[in-house]
Amino acid sequence: MFVTRFAPSPTGLLHKGHAFSALTAWNAAQAAGGRFILRIEDTDFTRCRPEYEAAILEDLEWLGLAWEAPVRRQSEHRAEYEAAMSGLRDTGLLYRCFRTRKELMALAGMARHADDPVDAWAFTGGPIGADEEAARLARGEAFAWRLSLAAARDRLGDLNALTWREEGVDPGLRHAAPERLGDMVIGRKDIGAGYVIASVVDDALQGITHVVRGEDLIETTSIQRLLQALLGLPTPVYHHHPLLLGPDGKRYAKRDRSVTLTELRAAGMTAEALKAELGF
Ligand code: GLU
Repeated sequence: MFVTRFAPSPTGLLHKGHAFSALTAWNAAQAAGGRFILRIEDTDFTRCRPEYEAAILEDLEWLGLAWEAPVRRQSEHRAEYEAAMSGLRDTGLLYRCFRTRKELMALAGMARHADDPVDAWAFTGGPIGADEEAARLARGEAFAWRLSLAAARDRLGDLNALTWREEGVDPGLRHAAPERLGDMVIGRKDIGAGYVIASVVDDALQGITHVVRGEDLIETTSIQRLLQALLGLPTPVYHHHPLLLGPDGKRYAKRDRSVTLTELRAAGMTAEALKAELGF
C-alpha cells in the first residue's frame, strides 16, 4: 500500500511552493490508490505558531485535499523522539556539543540562512575531553547532541554505501553522503530532539512508503537515511521534486509574504486557477 505524507512546519504561512509539494504528494497517492497523511512538524516551539497551523489546515482544505484524522502533531510526541535519541546515546553514537552558534560560525568562517534545513557547517570536532565536559556540565552550560560520524562508521562501515531509491529529480539509486554534513545536531540546545530525527521516527511509525518533498531537503535525506540505518528503521522511497520558482526566478520562501495561499485566496484566486497554474 502506497502511503505518503505532507509534513509542513507551522513556522509561517504556506506559499505556492508548498501547494505544489502538497499537490504532488496528494496526486501520487490518488494515482496509486494509496493513503495521504498530513503531519504537523512543530518540534521547534521557538518558531511554530498555532495560528500558522490553523491557516495551513484551511489552505489545504481550500486546495481540495483531505487527510486522515487525527493529525499527528510532533509537539505531542516529544518523548518518542527523545527515546530514539537515548537509544543512539546509549550506544555511543551521540556526543555533547557546548559550542555556541557564534563559535561555530567563527569556526566555519561562514553563515547560512537560518531557514536552511541542515546545519551545514560540517562540524567534525568530536567531543571535548571528559574533564572539560564535567566542568561545563557542573556549570550548567547548555549543550546540543551531535551524531558522531566516526561512531556511525564504526557501526556501519562506509556510510556512502547507504542508498535510497529516488523517483524524483535524478531518479535511480542514490547514495547517501552524510560525510559532507559533518557531525549533525540531532538534539538542539533549546528544543531537544529536532526535525531530522522526529521526521525519521514518524515516517517509520506511520508506515510512510513514499516521501514526496522538495529537493531542498535532499541533503537532509543523507542524514535521515543514516538515522534509519542506526535506528533499524525501514527506508521509504523518496521523490524529491524540483522547487517551484517565482517570477523572479528565485524559490519561494516563507519570508515572501506576498505569495501566501491565504493572500491569494483573499485576493479572489480560486483553487482551480492555482492548480492550473501549478500544472495540476
Ligand atoms: N517539515 C519540513 C518542512 O516544512 C518538511 C519535512 C519533510 O517533508 O520531510 O520543511
